Amino acid sequence: LASLQTRAQMSNKGKKHRAEQLNVLRELGQGSYGQVFEGTLQTSTGKDRVVLKRVKPRVEAAEVMGQMEHLLNVYAAKAAPQAVAHFLGYIEVTPTQATKSLTEGLWLMWRFEGSQTLWSYMRRTSLFRDECLVTLAADLCMPEPLAVATVMRQLCENLSAMHTAGLVHRDVKPANIIFAEQEKRFKLIDLGACADLRAGTNYVPDEGIMDPSYCPPEQYCLPTDSPDLARQFGVVRSAMSPMLWSRYKPDRFDSWSAGMVLLQLAVPKLRQMQSLRDFTKLLKREDCDIYAALKAARLPAKHTALLDADNGVGLDLLAGLLRPRSVEVMDDGGVRFVNHKSKAIRLPVSAAL
Ligand code: ADP
Ligand code: MG
Repeated sequence: LASLQTRAQMSNKGKKHRAEQLNVLRELGQGSYGQVFEGTLQTSTGKDRVVLKRVKPRVEAAEVMGQMEHLLNVYAAKAAPQAVAHFLGYIEVTPTQATKSLTEGLWLMWRFEGSQTLWSYMRRTSLFRDECLVTLAADLCMPEPLAVATVMRQLCENLSAMHTAGLVHRDVKPANIIFAEQEKRFKLIDLGACADLRAGTNYVPDEGIMDPSYCPPEQYCLPTDSPDLARQFGVVRSAMSPMLWSRYKPDRFDSWSAGMVLLQLAVPKLRQMQSLRDFTKLLKREDCDIYAALKAARLPAKHTALLDADNGVGLDLLAGLLRPRSVEVMDDGGVRFVNHKSKAIRLPVSAAL
């Protein structure tokens, strides 16, 4: 059944383009298994600006990861199109077509959505004003006080669409949130770590690829101990039932990451990665109680003003997003989630939004 499903999934790979249509221009970034480039695609109506990703040759498992990212993009483009960068399809470059820049193998292709990620906004500094929020507000055509709320609303809408489709992104962070200039809204990119919990695609129970600065303390999107779950997601790859989804709340993985993004948007000091890491340690020491952690961090009132505004509605949203699930580590190293009532919650996320 697993191989049948995989074959069915692989038969739907999206649009295939020809190598001759492509021109690779400059490198945009490099992850552990892939390289990303800006390029152009020649179509009947002209040249389109595109983003291209290829797997690195000679990196173990890179090829499989590239295939997974491919499948996830095809599915997300159908199930949550407004949430993710527009996927244009793929190119298989044969040895005879290969050139120095367009190397042999699988290439994935997206529309070039824009030149700024949320991380590039966060890196803007000025002595006189919050340059990140000023430029965000200008690009979103919003007054500055609404910039953080607008970005968070768009991020939550994107995540909600993904979760409704059974997808957990697992790598939500400012560098993976792109500003789509045409629509003037933020979208998610980089589905390399995304798991499709309906089909089981890219999901191995005890394996995770994560950025520790944005990953929730329990580290997994589902418990890793249950043989039932292993059978369900690892081997048989059958659909995840709504009952299991509501019991284990795998979407909380992304909610935590979104909380860290909110923290960085609202508190300029935490845009420095070392400060964020220090704060995360403090947060864990305070049992993930964000109210206690912010008090213990002794940030000047100016730094927390945005979270405190409007009777602390931002702070309550943050508490709603930063909700870890309790875990118990089993003798065999598996992890079981334990349901408990989190003391940090004052408002449901939807109410705060
Ligand atoms: P990696 O696996 O290297 O993290 P990403 O998919 O995150 O790969 O892409 C790396 C960088 O390329 C991003 O941080 C962003 O700057 C740029 N990028 C990726 N996709 C797009 C896109 N659709 N439009 C514009 N820029 C993009
Ligand atoms: Mg990335």
